[in-house]
Amino acid sequence: MGAVKLEAIAGILFDKDGTLLDYDASWLPVNRELASIAAEGDAALADHLLSACGMDPVTGHIVPDSLLAAGNTRQISEGLVAAGSKVNVAELTEKLDALFSHAADFSSPVTDLAAFFRRLHERGYKLGVASSDNERSIRQTARRFGFLDYVDYIAGYDSGFGTKPEPGMVLGFAKATGLAPGQIAVVGDNNHDLHMGQSAGVGLKVGVLTGTGSRESLAAASDYCLNDITELESLLPAAQPA
Ligand SMILES: [Mg+2]
Repeated sequence: MGAVKLEAIAGILFDKDGTLLDYDASWLPVNRELASIAAEGDAALADHLLSACGMDPVTGHIVPDSLLAAGNTRQISEGLVAAGSKVNVAELTEKLDALFSHAADFSSPVTDLAAFFRRLHERGYKLGVASSDNERSIRQTARRFGFLDYVDYIAGYDSGFGTKPEPGMVLGFAKATGLAPGQIAVVGDNNHDLHMGQSAGVGLKVGVLTGTGSRESLAAASDYCLNDITELESLLPAAQPA
């Protein structure tokens, strides 16, 4: 961990769910609704689909790095169909994207995101969001929580930069901001976030514990593991050189 040059970091690319938004509060009800849609109202099948995709239907516990923790809409749809949903993948993907966009209205942030992004923006950091959700949902979230004006870049699974853990979303952020990958920090609650950072050659990989990962599951791929994103403010140097 000592080899990381924190003072080189000039841009931060955040995952959304479990990182900016508290995973349990935001997503457990949505996952239940998702399973009900895929099961076309069959409650027993819905529970089976939840288990198969990584959520305990009784406790709500999410398996780290499972489909529900880390998959994009298409991957989740494919997983639901493979596990027994009778809806076809294309139709299910469309329905779930609509559900996820709507879910942005009910999501719960881990902190005052407008104030958090404004402080980092004022310190000179370039800021972005890279999520396996669709771009429309990400923009809705940024608008709803008042930080859209402080982000320089937004990428969803459907934005044309590929999917996690491929490096495309990070390279897109680098291109949009003029930064080298070594100047970028990736922050997320899943290994696919950290592996995306690794494959893009970023300068810093930070795991956070507000999502579906654990200190154990995130240890190998992260330089730091923080309780939540607010700890970044003291981890990173006070200000960017002008
Ligand atoms: Mg996440």
